Amino acid sequence: MSLFASLARDPETSSDPASSRRSFLRGATTALAAAGLGPLAAGQSPTKPNAQDAVHLPELHADTEAPDKTPGPFEAPSQRTGFAVVGLGTLSLNQILPAFAKSKYCRVAALVSGDRDKSRKIAAQYGIPDRSLYDYKTYDQLAQNPDVQAIYIVLPNSLHAEFVVRGAKAGKHILCEKPMATSVKDCERMIAACKAANVKLMIAYRQQYEPMNRQIIKMVKEGKLGTVKSFIATNGQNQGDPAQWRQKLALAGGGCLPDVGIYCFNAARFLSGEEPSEVVAFTTQPKSDPRFTEVEESCGFTLHFPSGLIATCSTGYGIHRSQFLRIEGEKAWAELSPAFAYTGIKLKTNRTEDGHNVLSEPSIEEKDQFALEMDHMAQCVQQNLQPHTPGEEGLHDQRITDAIYESARTGRSVKIAPPPQPTRGPDPQES
Ligand code: NDP
Repeated sequence: MSLFASLARDPETSSDPASSRRSFLRGATTALAAAGLGPLAAGQSPTKPNAQDAVHLPELHADTEAPDKTPGPFEAPSQRTGFAVVGLGTLSLNQILPAFAKSKYCRVAALVSGDRDKSRKIAAQYGIPDRSLYDYKTYDQLAQNPDVQAIYIVLPNSLHAEFVVRGAKAGKHILCEKPMATSVKDCERMIAACKAANVKLMIAYRQQYEPMNRQIIKMVKEGKLGTVKSFIATNGQNQGDPAQWRQKLALAGGGCLPDVGIYCFNAARFLSGEEPSEVVAFTTQPKSDPRFTEVEESCGFTLHFPSGLIATCSTGYGIHRSQFLRIEGEKAWAELSPAFAYTGIKLKTNRTEDGHNVLSEPSIEEKDQFALEMDHMAQCVQQNLQPHTPGEEGLHDQRITDAIYESARTGRSVKIAPPPQPTRGPDPQES
């Protein structure tokens, strides 16, 4: 019997759930130790995740009810990829750290923060030892931490480049938040640093791992929409404090466009499977509003694709939260409303069947997008795979961002050269 099969069987056979769980854990520790699977050394990857490690619970309901979902597989801590989370702000505390509890192949192993008091409090919550707390000066010492195989960069945009390059030099794989950086030059040096260090670089485009977005990709690929002709999207919100880094050009690289507008044109690219060749854009920047002295308030842009597809997008920092997309083909359309949200995304499709107009709302299980995205990164590390959203995907979005700004500045349409090679790696595995 395999190691994982022997670990998995105890809870099912014991009549006392509490004692079976205890003996399961004892058995797991003993079996892992016997197999020589102690804490991982730096650069050492955990073995491939094994589905036999799933935990099975007894069914509580009658056959007339939908079956409870079987949780797991639950990899042992030593089998999970250890992440250092860099920057303990809104996204890290509200979304990323809680998502580790839902991930199958990841664990949070270290924190990097400029605020020691905050990082101690958060570390206590997640069981992270004091020796695995760093600040931005001691960050490079992650190189000597064998508990950490990957680093998740969750800093203001213009700081991504420095911390990706230093993290790669420390020999760790990198997951970096969007937008990848604030210039093409920085994106290129991030890619080069990760290549030179032979570590993986993935950009955290969570929507590309989200089940309803993946369903639309499938529909487009299978020709369910027919030829895709049009894409419409909006992503906006009303910003508060003018002093926050998002309103500072040097830290943010722009206003609503690189922050939330990026979701619209990234979706136009990955849902259609095409790359835009030209853009026309407008921005507005009411400098009398203290929030917009350095960055634009709103941006509207139209992307033209070689097939004839036209994507019309708008983004704003002065509107009530609005998140929507629709991709329209000659036979059908699919829309997400809201789109781009962390939860509550709803898919709707419309087509004609037997002469009738059919509007449907497919029921697709909602999953934590951050857990999915981190699990994909862990699978890439553990199985030596190419990330689905590597640095090249972020680099091309930066080129598009630059073209949008150039068009808005010059009042002319701007050509966008196609990427030299496909910017996405193999599709993520079902999780
Ligand atoms: P926050 O401002 O809430 O947090 C950023 C954190 O970075 C701070 O709390 C601070 O952490 C650290 N930091 C280090 N240097 C600075 C500095 N000079 N100014 C401000 N903060 C600094 O930002 P978010 O968490 O909202 O965003 C972080 C990144 O995540 C951005 O790149 C953003 O685009 C991306 N993001 C992605 C989302 C997604 O859905 N994928 C959603 C939201 C954001 P500490 O105090 O620990 O040092």
